[in-house]
Amino acid sequence: MVQTLSILARDAFASPDKVLLERPRLPPVTYGDFDRLSARLAHAVSARGVDPGDRVAVQVEKSVEALALYIACMRVGAVYVPLNTAYTAAEMQYFIADAEPSLVVCDPAQAAQLAPLAENAGSRIETLDADGKGTLVDLASTLPDTFSGRAAKPDDVAAILYTSGTTGRSKGAMLTQGNLLSNALALTNIWRFSSDDVLLHALPIYHTHGLFVATNVILRAGASMIYLPKFDVDEVISLLPRATAMMGVPTFYTRLLAHPGFTREAASSIRLFISGSAPLLASTHEEFSARTGHAILERYGMTETGMITSNPYDGDRIAGTVGFPLPEVEIRVAQPDTGEVLAQGEIGVVEVRGPNVFKGYWRMPEKTAQEFRADGFFVTGDIGRIDERGNLHIVGRSKDLIITGGFNVYPKEIELAIDALEGVAETAVIGIPHPDFGEGVMAAVVPQPGVELNEAQILERIRGNLAKFKQPKRIVIVPELPRNTMGKVQKNVLREQYRDMFA
Ligand code: ATP
Ligand code: MG
Repeated sequence: MVQTLSILARDAFASPDKVLLERPRLPPVTYGDFDRLSARLAHAVSARGVDPGDRVAVQVEKSVEALALYIACMRVGAVYVPLNTAYTAAEMQYFIADAEPSLVVCDPAQAAQLAPLAENAGSRIETLDADGKGTLVDLASTLPDTFSGRAAKPDDVAAILYTSGTTGRSKGAMLTQGNLLSNALALTNIWRFSSDDVLLHALPIYHTHGLFVATNVILRAGASMIYLPKFDVDEVISLLPRATAMMGVPTFYTRLLAHPGFTREAASSIRLFISGSAPLLASTHEEFSARTGHAILERYGMTETGMITSNPYDGDRIAGTVGFPLPEVEIRVAQPDTGEVLAQGEIGVVEVRGPNVFKGYWRMPEKTAQEFRADGFFVTGDIGRIDERGNLHIVGRSKDLIITGGFNVYPKEIELAIDALEGVAETAVIGIPHPDFGEGVMAAVVPQPGVELNEAQILERIRGNLAKFKQPKRIVIVPELPRNTMGKVQKNVLREQYRDMFA
């Protein structure tokens, strides 16, 4: 029985001639190439003083070497700590001080800025650029291309992955070998990945989606990826016919739909389109299926737990729901304050338990204790409801819940009501400090291209559909919503921008 992710990586190298990574205009990388490269990098990391359990903090562009460095850390038994390439030096100061890595790997252009931070934390520093060149690879190229790794235990921490920071400061989630492996096995199975698959991979590799969901599934299946540095819509459309599956954030799908070259024909070789990391609008799901004949499979997960639920491979993939729990994963909906488990159909906080659930927040024992119930369920902070078929619906995050004049308002309900109006592309509803109500409801509405909308007209059209306390007190028309690199709407940015609206 395979019990750790490091064994999964080793198993993957059993067919050395099989292509792992295809890259436009560059030679393919076979499993054998990747085995040798990750072995050399494992030696390099060890040579720089990294012992099992030590952290390796990595802020680099997406390259073959960067992906091999992840596997190299697994082989050494080091804790891989990937960091968003968008983080500034000031933000990196927090992450490096928090993670206290033995080794920092960064882009050569950042090395001068990061060196003093690394030194303060007692870390060494090496470089790796977007083309996979740098001091770390120079060192690796002089070292042997086989590496006999140490046997990891399922409970060993494999990675610390920082959360996206959508609701506050990013927290380091300690993910074990067993956590990552359980998700890789479950997802490969339920999504039917095999060595015949070619996954179009245009996601970043510092986030759970592109790193663990995509990469670990492909390694587990012995499949291939078309490995792209970023999502370029023209390039993706031209490469889709070579792929059998694609994983994306909702914005990938809206960008494809906005492109006239994205046709049923362009999508005809694909057996599975998967979406996650942020809610997929029901309208996107419907437009996509009308255009291509494919029902996008939406799944739900988070940094702390990997994937939690998925729509079914066979059977209905219902727009606006995130599906059923993965095998061995339990979910329930509870009253947020008391933890009382709610009856089916009621709205509350989503809680999860299973082999995928992380070990705790790095160096935040109190926060960890706060977010777990006594019986081991983790409190996700997402608000949801389980319908009569067992499908989970996410209706928002507890931190986005609006309390206005003593009433709870779930932004999603109002967003759906406004989205349903003709000419509306999407909506974000937030609570803004209000002198009388505590919080006042406001909506930022994006019109469909070429459509003119105004506040009075929208208010008029929703009046009959929503109780008075739910109706936005103000509506602003905006060209787009602020989003982070994973396509998540940054409601904190909106709240900040409009904080004086009711002052
Ligand atoms: P932070 O925890 O630092 O505030 P974050 O929660 O955005 O940031 P991630 O772990 O990257 O960081 O994101 C997990 C969250 O993304 C989930 O808790 C959920 O709110 C959202 N999410 C992921 N997939 C879906 C989905 N299919 N539908 C709706 N929301 C989703
Ligand atoms: Mg979160």
